[in-house]
Amino acid sequence: DGVIHVIGGGLAGSEAAFQIARQNIPVVLHEMRPKRMTDAHHTHGLAELVCSNSFRSDDATANAVGVLHEEMRILNSVILREADKHKVPAGGALAVDRDGFSQAVEAALTADPLITIEREEVNDIPDSWKQVIIATGPLTSPALAEMIRKWGGEEDLAFFDAIAPIAHFDSVNMDVAWFQSRYDKSTDGGDGKDYINCPMTKSQYEDFIDALIDGEKMSFKEWEENTPYFEGCMPIEVMASRGRETLRFGPMKPVGLTNAHDGSRPYAVIQLRQDNALGTLYNMVGFQTKLKHAEQVRIFQTIPGLEDAQFARLGGLHRNTFINSPRLLDPQLRMKSMPRIRFAGQITGVEGYVESAAIGLMAGQMAALELKGQDWTAPPLDTAHGALLSHITGGAMADSFQPMNVNFGLFPEIETPAGTKRLKGRDRKAAYAGRALDSIRAWKDVTAS
Ligand code: FAD
Repeated sequence: DGVIHVIGGGLAGSEAAFQIARQNIPVVLHEMRPKRMTDAHHTHGLAELVCSNSFRSDDATANAVGVLHEEMRILNSVILREADKHKVPAGGALAVDRDGFSQAVEAALTADPLITIEREEVNDIPDSWKQVIIATGPLTSPALAEMIRKWGGEEDLAFFDAIAPIAHFDSVNMDVAWFQSRYDKSTDGGDGKDYINCPMTKSQYEDFIDALIDGEKMSFKEWEENTPYFEGCMPIEVMASRGRETLRFGPMKPVGLTNAHDGSRPYAVIQLRQDNALGTLYNMVGFQTKLKHAEQVRIFQTIPGLEDAQFARLGGLHRNTFINSPRLLDPQLRMKSMPRIRFAGQITGVEGYVESAAIGLMAGQMAALELKGQDWTAPPLDTAHGALLSHITGGAMADSFQPMNVNFGLFPEIETPAGTKRLKGRDRKAAYAGRALDSIRAWKDVTAS
């Protein structure tokens, strides 16, 4: 019908709709909120961030997700454009004021005459829709998930991840806690004081680990019991139960921090990061949890500096949904058995806000060019976009397919010319990064995307 239908106005769907409109093709973006909410979304805004407000490292010289950010900027991503405009201090990371960001993405799409936003749940895809992108995310509505399963997406899996608590800044005791970024590293123009740090002695740490292990957890439903955790978003009590030192080498690591009140080096640290532009809310970094709410308050108030903490939001846990993309999709994200249907975002088995948006960006370009009767050429494998796309559409083993963050392990090796030494460490990462950015620019010039 000359229109592309995008289902789901999250990170991927919003980016896809924007890219389609950039190609002068009309698009209908179907978003079920607020008529039907998910377990994790709190607003009706497009591109809502359901957990952390961070897009992770913004270092495009040596970090794979930082490279993905930069590539998205080069490719005119609306998600990166608005993230940059709404960033809050977060060391070397790109973190945003979540409401300001979401509202700006929505405003950009609403203002585009080629984009129509329909607030409705889609659970049936009419034959008249010739081009469809499904970007309904980790919390795809049950009716649509059921439909996908019927199409042959039998590898639809459900598993848990968890959200971190958010505290009100004015309830944090700054006579005990202090501002400092690890190794005093800051965002541009920052003062090296982006995080609030709460220190622990060895005995406080030991008691805390016991409390986490003993604390009452939310129970699993029977069918959910053997579901694997979303790696990288593992609940702290699960980390604690895997080894008493695990947290001290993870989110509670004390390296690069000195207690500003007495000059001591803490045994362990809890870090809080600014969560909104006003600076009134701070989230507990890496503290995803499935402890019961009352237990969270009781246990987290034993943290020095958080004795009187008031929580704007407590941690929780949620399901994820993703298809077996290497089996079901062709290299252009189309269902092999039904090519008018494309998938994008987290449901394709990438993991993370940025990765989801990047897949949305490419899905939008693919669909638009297809409608115009033009070929879409994939970005080279040595770009972050190309590496991610190729991983989910074939690079990964279908039998053991699990969600993936962008990382240099997905990129082709850096070739070592005869007689020279293999690059290592930061030099190696820098080589991946530089190669990717040169490559995406060249690709953009050739494809005029
Ligand atoms: P979403 O952003 O979820 O967008 C999907 C949209 O589709 C939603 O707006 C939903 O309302 C809508 N929708 C669903 N079904 C229908 C339907 N049938 N009809 C119409 N609309 C529908 N990633 C990170 O990088 N950092 C994190 O901290 C992080 N935390 C997470 C915490 C939780 C609890 C979950 C569930 C995921 C988390 N993720 C995180 C993973 C993931 O990156 C994000 O969920 C991201 O938003 C995925 O983007 P998306 O566009 O694929 O899905």
